[in-house]
Amino acid sequence: MKQRFNLNKLRNKIWLYFIIFTVVLVCFIWLLQTVFFEYNYQSVRGQTVNLYADLISNDIKDDKPINEGHLNFLQDSSIGVWHFKTVDNVTKQVFPIDKPLSESAILQVEKLFNQLENKNLTSQTGEGLYIGFSPSLYTVRVIRKSTGNEFILLTSSLSLMQDTVKVLRNQLIFVAVIVTAVSLFISYVIADRIARPIDDMSAVAERWAKGDETVLFKGSYYAETEELANALNKAKDEVNKSGKLQKDLLANVSHDLKTPLTMIKAYAEMIKDISGDNKEKREKHTQVIIEEADRLTLLVNDILNLSKLQSQSDVIEKTTINLSKLIETVIYRFSTVLSEKGYVIEKHIEQNVFVCVDEKKIEEVIYNLIGNSINYTGEDKTVKIYLTVSDKTATLEILDSGLGISGDKIETIWEKYYRFSETHKRTVKGTGLGLSIVKTILDYHNLNYGVISKVNTGSNFYIVFERLLDKDGGGNE
Ligand code: ADP
Repeated sequence: MKQRFNLNKLRNKIWLYFIIFTVVLVCFIWLLQTVFFEYNYQSVRGQTVNLYADLISNDIKDDKPINEGHLNFLQDSSIGVWHFKTVDNVTKQVFPIDKPLSESAILQVEKLFNQLENKNLTSQTGEGLYIGFSPSLYTVRVIRKSTGNEFILLTSSLSLMQDTVKVLRNQLIFVAVIVTAVSLFISYVIADRIARPIDDMSAVAERWAKGDETVLFKGSYYAETEELANALNKAKDEVNKSGKLQKDLLANVSHDLKTPLTMIKAYAEMIKDISGDNKEKREKHTQVIIEEADRLTLLVNDILNLSKLQSQSDVIEKTTINLSKLIETVIYRFSTVLSEKGYVIEKHIEQNVFVCVDEKKIEEVIYNLIGNSINYTGEDKTVKIYLTVSDKTATLEILDSGLGISGDKIETIWEKYYRFSETHKRTVKGTGLGLSIVKTILDYHNLNYGVISKVNTGSNFYIVFERLLDKDGGGNE
């Protein structure tokens, strides 16, 4: 289908502006070369003619012959000089003797002199006097003497100027056509070069909007479009990544909700149909139902917790706390796992370390990190916890001897629902949201944290707290 010319398109607009610019430029040159040329020519010529008319009339006033030098200059400049005398009301040409004016010219000159006499003027400048065949610019000086009036007339033909203007006009038509054609072409090329990368990018964006994730934005010709393309490619990668995460999250949540629900239903049916009368079996089956319900509660709580944290509706309330005691309390919460399943926690905790944090949330962070270390530690079932201090900081390190995390996965473990060891048997129940909650809480606290891990050796999760020197937030311990 033929596309209609759309003036709002960048390409067409740039093109149009260029054309307007060219037209304005050509008109301006036209004005300058013709109208202003005519005006300027007449004004400059008028000045010369007037200057020499004054000089010559001074000579005449003083009864001197006309200065030869002036006459030569005027002849070279194609300016005619005439000297008339009126004797007994008859006007006679005194100079040049050898170049008498035509009769029609004499009539015009006499008429002009009479007008001056009538108006009692001594000088007049004008145009339109026909000395030859073309109009002239003229100036007259009246010198009143006792012997009668004398007149000095200087004329400058305008035909040369008119010819020049004609030539200029013809040349200008030619120049205007060439300039317009060249500027049309150049402006089209420039407009196209500016608009094309943007058009291309919007076409790519449309393909992307339709679901094609393989698209690539490309800029061309200008650094700005290259930068725009790079920024769009970056944004696209981020959106694609977060879209994928969203999908994974949904899949994981539904899977994690479905598994305990299926189990609860299956065991409830088993109690109803089989184990209802058998106390021992019934208790075993009921226990499974309770554990699965716990798992569901844990998952729902974690999801709520994370979404509350991320929507910032849960504010951080900082107080000064004894971090050493808090760590001990969390370790104590794991005592059942430790004693029943043979896990060992080696602790090296500096006592009375005070920090200013949200106690409940940091407790959750420590709980999640220790829980993970117990889950992922190696055969020796050992987890080491260090709390060390320097002048201004206190560093908590939680080390395990597990499989570790490879370099390419170390950044991703903080993302929601990221699990790369799905089949790992958990000692402490996890939901796949633990590290994401840890990250959100620590980011809110602006704390430095991370993980150092070596595959097949273990991981070291650390948090660096800003240390208060006593529980009031100042002084020494
Ligand atoms: P999960 O409930 O799966 O533990 P987390 O968010 O706490 O969820 O952890 C995300 C993933 O990071 C885990 O599935 C695991 O693959 C990895 N991970 C966390 N802690 C450790 C650790 N101490 N050693 C090895 N891998 C770990």
